Amino acid sequence: MSIHDFERYPLTFGPSPVHPLDRLTRHLGGAQVWAKREDCNSGLAFGGNKVRKLEYIVPDVLAQGADTLVSIGGVQSNHTRQVAAVAARLGLRCRLVQERWVEWDDPVNDKVGNILLSRIMGADVHLDPAGFDIGIRSSWEDALREVEEAGGKPYGIPAGASEHHLGGLGFAGWAYEVAAQEEQLGVFFDTIVVCTVTGSTHAGMVAGFAALEEAGGRQRRVLGIDASATLDKTRDQVARIARHTAGLIGLGRDLSDGEIAVLEGWAGDLYGVPVESTVDAIRLSGRLEGMILDPVYEGKSMAGLLDLVTSREIEPGSTVLYAHLGGQPALNAYSAVFD
Ligand code: PLP
Repeated sequence: MSIHDFERYPLTFGPSPVHPLDRLTRHLGGAQVWAKREDCNSGLAFGGNKVRKLEYIVPDVLAQGADTLVSIGGVQSNHTRQVAAVAARLGLRCRLVQERWVEWDDPVNDKVGNILLSRIMGADVHLDPAGFDIGIRSSWEDALREVEEAGGKPYGIPAGASEHHLGGLGFAGWAYEVAAQEEQLGVFFDTIVVCTVTGSTHAGMVAGFAALEEAGGRQRRVLGIDASATLDKTRDQVARIARHTAGLIGLGRDLSDGEIAVLEGWAGDLYGVPVESTVDAIRLSGRLEGMILDPVYEGKSMAGLLDLVTSREIEPGSTVLYAHLGGQPALNAYSAVFD
């Protein structure tokens, strides 16, 4: 089995853009920094990393004849917005559980950004007071049961599509896409920096790059930057999904713990709450590159990249690929941070 044996339902425009961040690179004075842009990978409600994961899950949805996608996330979840967009695109219903993952008292938090877009796309949005947890939730299981009791045929997609058995494939495929783009561009990214929370984005990359290496590709490192602030859970989840995905795509060996690097230091104390380094990273990327990052995920992973390049832990001779995973709609609920 390899990644190419899995059916992929097209939801993206094709390969996502890869480009150098010249002004940021000059400003940092060390490694060369590039970005690969999942924030503009699709015409479905501003795209993002979940659209890519869903490309490998939709064939199973269709095979099962489901009529309703049921998913879960925080109030400003990017994931649920992308599930709502995919449901709309497929002509399916969508039932969403939006939990209170972040104690964020902006008065429009549950009205603007991602949740607004999900409502526009016709999703049945239910708010739930439960707090942050990346695992399987009873509120999501209740929603599945309710859809069934009402005569529907639900298809469950867990938070971030991570605890789904096919959830890691999207970013295993991403690794192959990077390798093809490197050929075209004549560049090699020895270091990948990616934000990690529910884990299957990072995990898929680890599995995909390991499989490429096994087939003769050059060695590189994938650095996950934790934005969950529940580090042990995220580390466990990334490791489990990476090993599972590696098995699916036919990696002929076990992944070592050293290949699964989730770095701490930029999440702050709480998921969803930006800290000074997050806001500085967002402003810097905006001012130097016109590249917009969000305060929940990408601002935190960029803060990590900035520190690692500046401290030379990522060596000056490196060429780094920053995986921009999307998420900008949430900015609408964080305007006070930038007053
Ligand atoms: N970046 C953005 C914009 C996201 O929406 C998410 C989703 O959780 C992540 C990063 C983290 O990805 P994952 O949950 O697969 O670890």
